[in-house]
Amino acid sequence: MAAQIQEIVDEIVAAMAQESERGDVATYIPGLANVSPAHFGMAVIGADGSVALGGDAEQPFSIQSISKVFALTMALGKVGDQLWRRVGREPSGNAFNSIVQLEAEHGIPRNPFINAGAIVVADVNLSGHMPREAIGELIRFIRFLADDETIVVDDAIARSETETGFRNVALANYMRAFGNIRHSVELVTGVYFHQCAISMSCLQLARAGRYLMLDGLQPEAGRVVSARRARRINALMLTCGHYDASGDFAFRIGMPGKSGVGGGILAVVPGKASIAVWSPGLNASGNSQLGTLALERLAQATGWSVFSARA
Ligand code: GLU
Repeated sequence: MAAQIQEIVDEIVAAMAQESERGDVATYIPGLANVSPAHFGMAVIGADGSVALGGDAEQPFSIQSISKVFALTMALGKVGDQLWRRVGREPSGNAFNSIVQLEAEHGIPRNPFINAGAIVVADVNLSGHMPREAIGELIRFIRFLADDETIVVDDAIARSETETGFRNVALANYMRAFGNIRHSVELVTGVYFHQCAISMSCLQLARAGRYLMLDGLQPEAGRVVSARRARRINALMLTCGHYDASGDFAFRIGMPGKSGVGGGILAVVPGKASIAVWSPGLNASGNSQLGTLALERLAQATGWSVFSARA
């Protein structure tokens, strides 16, 4: 099995190297604009602990919105289901940074994976902390999940987002006007920008995602969340993890997944695999062009899908 998956990963890496349509690297965050679209990396960790790596699988990149999965897990640990009074659980059908729905829906973001929702989650994680402590807690949680103490925030990216994240500041202010942000906008967006600027490799991300493949268990340390919570986070990733392209991602790949504008995607096949891919060029919906294609090929080659009996 492990050798077979490594063979599939090798084939995918070779095929991706030939692709000329690599999408466009995000430029709205200046710190991301200089990353070469030539990169491609992939890591697949099986439920049995087997690891298949390909391409730039061990090179750290900016995880951006993939951090929303870990931040959500942490916030649920703090306030449980009360979180759902402040954030919805429906796909948005809008761009990741859209403000339009917020007015009609009285400052309650559609889900925790659009920017507005993640900013509310950051507000929850900030409770009782200074921003530095809240970020420290999240980093420690991610290091624990990945069993890797080397994971850090890229301060240059965090600075770059702080200097240019006007839309996110606007979203936070707008929600504060509705009473759905409790701390100062500067502190909340500070937490949000720093969590987006966490740097991880595909291998580290796939390791951090293992609790979602194993019904809430982290293999080295035991239970992280209940099986029910892991299942629910997977459901949100499936329905909301790729912004307004979440339906297309479910159709083409059929796995819970969360993308980030750094070009990474974390995907989970419950009971089978935790997968991370990275290629910085994005498609029109802001999701990794080659990362999506690579996952589609992996799903075809393995039969892995939450919608398939073969999986
Ligand atoms: N830091 C990015 C932003 O807020 C995250 C977006 C993403 O990765 O999709 O714009």
